[in-house]
This record gives sequence, structure tokens and C-alpha cells, in this order.
Amino acid sequence: MENMSQVNPFQTALTQLKAAASYVELDEWVVDFLSAPERTVQLRFPVKMDSGEIKIFNGFRVQYNSWRGPYKGGIRFHPQVVMDEVKALAFWMMIKNAVVDVPFGGGKGGVEVDPKQLSQTELERLTKGFTRLIAPVIGPEMDVPAPDVNTNGQIMVWLVEEYENQLKVQSAKFKVEYTKNEIKAVTTGKPVDFGGSLGREEATGMGGFFVLEELVKKLNLQKPLKVAVQGFGNVGSHIARLVSDAGYTVVALSDSKGSLYNPNGLDVKEVKRRKDDGKTVGESSPGERITNEELLELPVDILIPAALENVLTLGNADKIRAKIILEMANGPTTAEADEIFHKNEIMVIPDVLANAGGVTVSYFEWYQNMNNEKWTLEEVNAKLKEKMVGAFENTWTIHEEKHVSPRVASYILALRRIAEKAP
Ligand code: NAD
Repeated sequence: MENMSQVNPFQTALTQLKAAASYVELDEWVVDFLSAPERTVQLRFPVKMDSGEIKIFNGFRVQYNSWRGPYKGGIRFHPQVVMDEVKALAFWMMIKNAVVDVPFGGGKGGVEVDPKQLSQTELERLTKGFTRLIAPVIGPEMDVPAPDVNTNGQIMVWLVEEYENQLKVQSAKFKVEYTKNEIKAVTTGKPVDFGGSLGREEATGMGGFFVLEELVKKLNLQKPLKVAVQGFGNVGSHIARLVSDAGYTVVALSDSKGSLYNPNGLDVKEVKRRKDDGKTVGESSPGERITNEELLELPVDILIPAALENVLTLGNADKIRAKIILEMANGPTTAEADEIFHKNEIMVIPDVLANAGGVTVSYFEWYQNMNNEKWTLEEVNAKLKEKMVGAFENTWTIHEEKHVSPRVASYILALRRIAEKAP
């Protein structure tokens, strides 16, 4: 029996790989090869706290596959980061980058830390300590990190600074020569005035919104549709605002401290303002306080998990009343819950499609750095829409032709593209 904390996300990823591989004519060795990462890096490093005390931290970088291009994927700072979680996230990045057809492989990293307990100077030393150790295996044409849970543009700036320092040491040995702009392409999700792309911050939410709008058209659904969003960080707050502006009714929102429910709709912008002022979601607007578990089981049309993995499990799958689940978090649904949703005819739009907008604009950012270009917000959003609608259409065609779930369909699409580049 699965239990939320016991589900190993990497096992979920491998189950998904097997389910889709049976529909694609792949050589046996390819499936075998894609069942484990090309390279895993496990790190330990000391960080000086403001008190003068030294603490030791564990870090990870998983480089899953590079057949389609440099490894690409975010860095997560979280107290529960473990190697198998990072492996699963890196695997999903490989699939996702192929679904939206950007020329990247899959990677992911993490540090086992609760960043909320650190001061800004401690966070900077931690980021630089981690970067120093991964510097030899990352680079604009080798492995390109980005922000993920609890990391942001400032952390990417520190990463670039330390990478540049380390490059000076390395280039003395290896003659690596990059321009200032190219050096910045070692990571994405940077602030706009530091080589970041316009539109990157809201890109994941916006990409999910484009996918949802296409789905609503395909299924001929009429607005207003009721939406519940779990998580109100980068991804959750942007998609909640976008759907609310587009005529959906956002009835529930949450953060790690609790949820807020109002069947008549919440004022998303007001919740965001209060959250920015340091309030929790539960304290920020008129409505009923409910638990995070209750939010998932509300009678809504669309449920949007946008927090962490393993929130939809065997324990609650049968209680989910939404008709559509738009997976904005990575890996929110366990394999067993997925089967129940299939049986209960709940349409699950998988993470590798729904949240691929972030890495798509990360690719645009990388491209602009490498080619010394600066695109307008309109250009970025138009290109993002084209990529997301294209990925949705390709997935939907396979879903209909092969009578498989959108998740299996997106994996089929990705595996075909990955296998094409097998050596
Ligand atoms: P974030 O740190 O900005 O926000 C996470 C939010 O989830 C916070 O509001 C936090 O309070 C909330 N949360 C944590 N535990 C919760 C719980 N049990 N119940 C309800 N809320 C909870 O992170 P983010 O960047 O928004 O990422 C969210 C998810 O989206 C992650 O799975 C991440 O991997 C995925 N994702 C992010 C991006 C991106 O561009 N940021 C891209 C693709 C996928």
C-alpha cells in the first residue's frame, strides 16, 4: 500500500516510462538506458553561518540524459531533498524538454536545507559553496540550471558569479572562453537586468494557462469554470491570476500554512497583495479556512496542484471530485492515483506538458544570451504560446489516435524524439 511520504517519485517516473515505452518501438537498450541517469553528483560542503559556526550541507546534481542537448533543470532548496527525488525531477525534465521540443536534455539539482532558516548572507554562501562544487560539470553548453522550489533570480545571480570565478580557475587549465553574455547562459531564470528574459518569471503559469485554454476548447466546456489551486508560489500565484482574469472562478487557494475557500470566488490579486505583505493565504481574504487535504477534494471543475509532488495518492484519489487535473507541480500524482483517475474518467493534463512553459522560456533566455539578443515581452509570449499549443496539439493527437491518457501520449511524443537522437 502506498503512503504519501513513502512513495518514491523515481519509481513513479519509471512506471510512467514503462507504460509509454510499450507504445513506441524502442530498442531494448534504449529503455534500459533511460531507466537511470547518465551522471549523478552528490556533494557535501561546509558553510559559515553568521554566528561563525560551520554547518555541513548535502547537495545533488543529476544529469539524466544529454542526447537532445545540454542537461537542463532547476535547483531546489528544501529540507526533504533526497537523491531519488532529484533523479525523478531530472527524468521529468528530459521528457518535458522533448515534449516542447527545446534542444535540451534533462537535469535537476537540490540542496537539503530549509532556506527560511538562513539569512541572505548565509544563503549566498550556501549557493556559492554548492556552485563551486558543481562548476566543473555545468556550463552554457553542458548543464544549465534554473530556479525551482525556494530558489529565485537572486540565487541564479550568485550562481553565475561563482561559476565565473571558477571558470577563471578552470580556463587557465582548459582554455574555456566565453563572452560575458555567454557566461550568463550557465543558468536561466536570472533577473531581467542580469541577462534574464522578459516573461520568464510568469512563464510556467502562462504556459499552463495556454494549455488549459486549448483543453477547454477541445472539450467544449463553458465558463465560468470553478478552479482550486494548491500552492501560491511562483507557479500557483501566476496561473491563479491568469485564469481568474480569463473568466474562470478561483474558489480555493492555499500555501503551506493552509487553504482558503469561497464558493463564490476569491479575489486573487488581493490575496497576492496580502501575501506580498507577509500574510499567509489563509489570512488574506474573506472565505472559509480549510485544510490543504480538503482543498484537493473540493467540488470544482479544475484542480491545479502547484506545490510539491505526491499530493494525489491512493489515499485520496477516489475522493477527488474535479473533472480536470492540471499538473503544474512536478509529480503531484502517484502512479496508483493516476490509474484511479483514469478509471474515474478524470482528465489529467500531465506536468511534463502543463508546466513546460518555464523551461521553454528558459530556453529563450539561454538562446538570447548565447546570441546576444533581447526579445520583447510580446515576442516571448507569442513564441511561448506557439510552443505550448503545438505541444498540446501533438499530445492530443496521440491521445486520440492511440486511446491513451494525455500523460502516456506526451511520453510517447517525448520518447520518439529522444530515441531519434540516440547515439
Ligand atoms: P515556490 O517555492 O515559489 O512555491 C511553492 C508554494 O507551495 C508555496 O506557496 C508554498 O507555501 C506552497 N506549499 C508547500 N507545501 C504545500 C502544501 N502541502 N500545501 C499547499 N501549499 C504548499 O515554488 P514554485 O516555483 O511555484 O514551484 C511549485 C511547483 O511547480 C514545484 O513542483 C516545481 O517543481 C514546479 N515547477 C516550477 C517551475 C518554475 O518555473 N518555478 C517550472 C516547472 C515546474
